[in-house]
Amino acid sequence: MRLSRYFLPVLKEEPKEAQIVSHRLMLRAGMIKQQAAGIYSWLPLGFKVLKRIEQIVHEEQARAGHIPLLMPTLQPADLWRESGRYDDYGEEMLRIKDRHKRDLLYGPTNEEMITDIFRSHVNSYKDLPLTLYHVQWKFRDEIRPRFGVMRGREFLMKDGYNFDLTKEAALHAYNRHLVSYLRTYERMGLQAIPMRADGGPIGGDYTHEFLVLAETGESEVFYDSQITDLTFGDRQIDYDSVEECQAVLEEFTSRYARTDETHDEAIFAQVPEERRRTARGIEVGQIFYFGTKYSESMGATVVGPDGARVPVEMGSHGIGVSRLLGAIIEANHDDKGIIWPEGVTPFHVGIVNLKQGDNSTDSACDAIYAELQARGLDPLYDDRDDRAGAKFATMDLIGLPWRITVGPRGLAANKVELTNRRTGATEEMSPKDAIARLEQIYQPVLGPKVQDK
Ligand code: ATP
Ligand code: MG
Repeated sequence: MRLSRYFLPVLKEEPKEAQIVSHRLMLRAGMIKQQAAGIYSWLPLGFKVLKRIEQIVHEEQARAGHIPLLMPTLQPADLWRESGRYDDYGEEMLRIKDRHKRDLLYGPTNEEMITDIFRSHVNSYKDLPLTLYHVQWKFRDEIRPRFGVMRGREFLMKDGYNFDLTKEAALHAYNRHLVSYLRTYERMGLQAIPMRADGGPIGGDYTHEFLVLAETGESEVFYDSQITDLTFGDRQIDYDSVEECQAVLEEFTSRYARTDETHDEAIFAQVPEERRRTARGIEVGQIFYFGTKYSESMGATVVGPDGARVPVEMGSHGIGVSRLLGAIIEANHDDKGIIWPEGVTPFHVGIVNLKQGDNSTDSACDAIYAELQARGLDPLYDDRDDRAGAKFATMDLIGLPWRITVGPRGLAANKVELTNRRTGATEEMSPKDAIARLEQIYQPVLGPKVQDK
């Protein structure tokens, strides 16, 4: 993209309404615009990151063997009357009447609807196991929408639902989700720690929340510092293997890590004192096993191997796709702006032309831009007629991990500068070498596409 043709409404002034750094930076970098409390338009730069995050979620869901579909945002109230949650959900649920005075609601989650789809089409245990998911807008009429996209009222969530014949199989689905979520967050450059959590309105005995440590997090968390040494890395896990998924779950959940809802001082006291940590965290996802809670009330049964009908075992799993933008920025910024991890950056590299209008720099930039695109990279070329300082400030604010700077003096020696946004380190090299280096850096991100199992 050429910046002269893009729509990047960066703000010069500090937005006064923003209390935390990620909200401030998203507004300043022209990523979002508030339309009502907790409701945002996603401007092109914000939309691009949102799509990158969504793409990673889809790829990791495919890797785990989960099937995408799409359910509507509006749901009939009757489904929720069946499960008993229409009344329980309270004021967080946005209730709507259509012209025929029928009750609708803007879905805060989709357990009822997916259970309805399941009971309409699945009859036999032979169709199990099955995990369906979608990435769809949710609405929760939060009492205090705040911190930008972190606590919106309308927000984008990946929510998935597993259907299994036995509790054992459903617990494997639970473990499999925990593993696949670890990989999902790491690809976004985040450490998200699974912590024992509370079931809340969705209910269930087994549940973990994934928390990103950040001072501005809304949850208080307690953990054994050893847990932050764990990384999933590029291990190859067979998601169908009960033992492999179980082993990862045990590795990542055996040390103490809990939110304030489940925190237990007595157990925590058994962790050596020097490893006991109290911190704040941002919840970026949660997984549940809840058994037959919905299948029993809504009549979602299958014929088992012995010919008898049994209610299906279920769990649900959510990732806060739009909240993740805020969480990633909270964990990756400095006083100049955002620093995107390579996995989610809106553009892979910025090109800054120090002397716009000069034949040699213009044609060198055009050539670099075209060559990067030819190699599957997505550059942002600042081709505006502006001061170098202003161009650098914009690039730093919007946080592209790499910058190529092209000026007449360097070009005379066939050199450009390649700068790392996080470290500030700059290296001089030929345009060809800079392109080759970037291609190498982004190889794991661009990598081969994940195939369905
Ligand atoms: P919270 O405790 O933060 O209100 P929750 O536990 O009610 O969240 P879940 O039902 O577990 O949320 O939803 C799955 C994920 O959706 C959460 O982990 C979070 O990342 C995201 N999410 C929930 N509520 C919001 C919101 N109001 N704005 C943005 N993201 C949200
Ligand atoms: Mg939750």
